Amino acid sequence: MPFVTPATLRDYDVIVVGSGAAGGQSAYTLSMSGARVLMLEAGRNYVPEHETPMFQTRGEAPLRGASTPDKPFGFHDATVDGGWQVPGEPYVNTTQEDSGRFDWWRARMLGGRTNHWGRYSFRNGPYDFKPRSRDGLGFDWPLTYEELAPYYDKVEMLIGVYGANDGLENTPNSSPGCLLPPPRPRVSDLLIAQRAKKVGIPVVAGHRAVLTQPLDHTNLPARLHPGNHDAQRIIAEHMRTRAACFWATPCGRGCSIRATYQSTTVHLPPALATGRLDILVNAMVREVTLDKRGLASGVSYVDKLTGRPGHAPARTVVLAASACETVRILLNSKSSGFEDGLANSSGKVGRYLMDTVGSSVDGQIPLLESLPPHNEDGASGGHMYAPWWLYGEQLAGKLGFPRGYHIEFGGGRNMPSLSTGAGIEWLTGGSYGRRFKEDVRRYYGSFVYFDGRGEMIPNEHSYCEIDPDVKDRWGIPVLRFHWNWSEHETRQAAHMQSTFAQIIEAMGGRVKGPVLTDGAQAIAPGGSIIHEVGGAIMGADPGQSVTNQWGQTWDVRNLFITDGAVFASNADKNPTLTIMALAWRTADHIVDRMKRREL
Ligand SMILES: Cc1cc2nc3c(=O)[nH]c(=O)nc-3n(C[C@H](O)[C@H](O)[C@H](O)COP(=O)(O)OP(=O)(O)OC[C@H]3O[C@@H](n4cnc5c(N)ncnc54)[C@H](O)[C@@H]3O)c2cc1C
Ligand code: SF4
Repeated sequence: MPFVTPATLRDYDVIVVGSGAAGGQSAYTLSMSGARVLMLEAGRNYVPEHETPMFQTRGEAPLRGASTPDKPFGFHDATVDGGWQVPGEPYVNTTQEDSGRFDWWRARMLGGRTNHWGRYSFRNGPYDFKPRSRDGLGFDWPLTYEELAPYYDKVEMLIGVYGANDGLENTPNSSPGCLLPPPRPRVSDLLIAQRAKKVGIPVVAGHRAVLTQPLDHTNLPARLHPGNHDAQRIIAEHMRTRAACFWATPCGRGCSIRATYQSTTVHLPPALATGRLDILVNAMVREVTLDKRGLASGVSYVDKLTGRPGHAPARTVVLAASACETVRILLNSKSSGFEDGLANSSGKVGRYLMDTVGSSVDGQIPLLESLPPHNEDGASGGHMYAPWWLYGEQLAGKLGFPRGYHIEFGGGRNMPSLSTGAGIEWLTGGSYGRRFKEDVRRYYGSFVYFDGRGEMIPNEHSYCEIDPDVKDRWGIPVLRFHWNWSEHETRQAAHMQSTFAQIIEAMGGRVKGPVLTDGAQAIAPGGSIIHEVGGAIMGADPGQSVTNQWGQTWDVRNLFITDGAVFASNADKNPTLTIMALAWRTADHIVDRMKRREL
């Protein structure tokens, strides 16, 4: 009985709160290893195989699929019951100014944001775990790249990530057999790679969680679960149900053939097949409860369907509700001895919230005009990217900002949409009728875009706390955000702008709009890149951090955190692969401790 109701809860070893990348990976590893797990998810059940509008045209959608407040990324986006605002679940900002605002994207559905995410899956490198040792800023992690590397291997093998081993500085190679072959570059990729090289920027195969070929269900299961024959059988069967990408549909809608990673198609089906995972959806967790010994005894929640409060007990609690939601649960878990929130003896819960530095430039490339018709939908997202390339110059203090960024870019002749041809007046001066059609054909496929994704250094002014007045529709106090970019980030954003303009010019193209020299204008608002991490950082010192290297809170030994809240820094590499690698490692640790009866 995998989907349970409040009336049919059983006995559990572990409660996992949340079902996204962190919750999915935690529940997968725990249940595959023999633990009885209850997952509580605030959103509704979601079945990608039945609900994904992979083949609908935009004309079939209301308003032709346009963005609306309840569907900010358009009608066909996979996100249900989520977005920048969730009805009945407000959050507070101390200012609405771009420079001090934190935009918070949430998805209230089984699988969380993994149903939609961009699938970019990069490993942090060795420098990224010891940033303070390298340049004196921020915090070191209490573990090394080498300690996490075997878990990166496992996650890549399980979810399926395409890419290549390029041996570049602080851009680690995967072990043999972990990565799938990358898709063929698009024409615009080849031109970008050629011209970027001329200005000293390496462009290599992208890394994304999309199956470019079926998974090797004969050999991978034994590497994933050595000695665990049940787990090997289950995952081998599951791998056979995943088809390879057919290069035709936007991944943001989700993937009903399971070619891309979503928690709902990759983590949860095999975990449910163990018979040891129960899932309670529509359960909004309010707080972690404690027993008389000060250990976690379970969680209290609100059943969203009835509005009734409930309690679920377990020997161990894992918070995986996404970085800020986990912080909110901790801060709302007040009791004698924990007046400022649970696991907060350091006062660091909510502190050092980070997002990714983002800045973009678009361009138009005459060399790509009027190409013969061909389809370049490909794996939906980037086939190539540019890792950060200036580590040496940066360390020598030549750049004026201390941490790097990578470049995600795109272009090409994708399936035309209803808006193809809109907004080309900046090139044509405005044309109509037959001339307009000729212009659209000429320019279609000649546009490129560059998105910088850079490292933010944690600071004292970017944090969240409980708002003293505002509550959500279930009476649970909500978060209030404080945000501040420092010059480390704004200078980096200005560098992105000039770099992207340089590449476009090297391609013989023209930049659309101004190249911003003021980094404060160039940088995207906090939270808007949707890579939020921190808020319950891990460290070696209980006075300066919330958890140890295992995501185990210093104050409550059977309370663990497996989402991005534990990140001690936010490297330029997108966070989700690291979230999953850490979650697997923490889950292994929990099982080990349970076997030794230490939990
Ligand atoms: C448009 C977009 C593009 C992205 N692209 C990328 C990318 O290319 N690469 C990358 O690395 N990352 C990307 N991300 C970020 C990525 O989605 C997140 O890093 C990842 O999903 C985090 O996993 P999580 O499990 O911590 O949180 P989530 O996936 O958000 O899952 C958390 C779950 O917990 C549930 N929950 C929250 N609070 C409670 C509660 N109180 N009680 C019960 N359940 C609760 C939520 O409903 C949700 O289902 C992108 C995100 C978006 C939205
Ligand atoms: S592009 Fe490929 S992975 Fe993405 S949704 Fe389409 S079939 Fe699935």
